[in-house]
Amino acid sequence: MRSISYIVIHCTATLQSAKVESIQNYWKNNLKWKSPGYHKIIEPNGTVRTLAPDAAVCNGVKGHNSHSLHVSYIGGIDAKGNAKDNRTPQQKAAMERVVREWKRQHPQAVVQGHRDFAGVAKACPSFDAIAWAKEVCL
Ligand SMILES: [Zn+2]
Repeated sequence: MRSISYIVIHCTATLQSAKVESIQNYWKNNLKWKSPGYHKIIEPNGTVRTLAPDAAVCNGVKGHNSHSLHVSYIGGIDAKGNAKDNRTPQQKAAMERVVREWKRQHPQAVVQGHRDFAGVAKACPSFDAIAWAKEVCL
């Protein structure tokens, strides 16, 4: 198994109605990525879709992927495209389950949001993931 230093929380920065397949197509066809952006993506109804095994390296945060696990919820912006924490209760619960399980397997890993990495100018995941992780993981 890879050594995991970070469990990274993301939003897709799409409307909540976005489909996992269209997000995957965007990565593949527009960004020309060979691997997905996240290991797991959480739909508004709480369904967790696994896009890559934990052993795989995904494209979540440039420069930090070899030692990170990435999970994202679908959403994170309002109708005007501004950052907004619009996680559904089901997405929050599912994210908590995913992160707790990863933290159990990788107790040394730091849980943080995409925006918490130095030099990242994005709002992703549109909420304070460090504070959230303290509530749900400790
Ligand atoms: Zn992100």
